[in-house]
Amino acid sequence: MIRRKKWLERLLNADIRSAFAMTEPDVASSDATNIETLIERDGDEYVINGRKFYISGAQRKQCEIMIVIGKSAPDNANRYIQQSMVLVPMNTPCVTIVRPMKVMGYDDAPEGHSEITFENDRVPLENIIKGEGKGFEVAQGRLGPEANSR
Ligand SMILES: Cc1cc2nc3c(=O)[nH]c(=O)nc-3n(C[C@H](O)[C@H](O)[C@H](O)COP(=O)(O)OP(=O)(O)OC[C@H]3O[C@@H](n4cnc5c(N)ncnc54)[C@H](O)[C@@H]3O)c2cc1C
Repeated sequence: MIRRKKWLERLLNADIRSAFAMTEPDVASSDATNIETLIERDGDEYVINGRKFYISGAQRKQCEIMIVIGKSAPDNANRYIQQSMVLVPMNTPCVTIVRPMKVMGYDDAPEGHSEITFENDRVPLENIIKGEGKGFEVAQGRLGPEANSR
């Protein structure tokens, strides 16, 4: 409920913007089972470590929140419940915008597509979307209506 007030309503009112962080430089990220960013539970927080790139809109002035997908259970035998999604405020300490990136020579300034690192970045447990291991489910839930609309 707090999340809805704090983020969703402001997003729906276009008062703030968001970014989605999945793609990583070291793995074939078109298959999200490959992603390596870790989301580890520590007490009442999740600790995030990883590197993402081509993250659209992360440098917009209005971008206040990022949805980050990473692995919370990398050793789970079922590779589709290894992932979780968490909400990461852009002003969280340890979130670093490394650089704006070019696409076919163009930089899409000023908003662009960013390389971003997470180094022991901490967010409260309530920032998880739907629950641990639900990252794939959330992504597929979003893609489903799109596929059905064709
Ligand atoms: C303008 C722009 C904006 C973007 N914005 C975002 C964003 O906001 N957030 C975000 O997370 N990402 C973003 N991306 C990244 C984009 O989502 C990824 O580039 C895309 O998902 C492909 O992942 P990849 O680059 O790791 O390519 P790869 O997964 O390495 O794929 C490269 C090629 O190899 C093929 N391939 C991959 N695996 C296999 C396999 N096992 N067998 C055979 N072929 C295979 C693929 O089909 C593809 O043709 C953006 C990219 C661009 C260009």
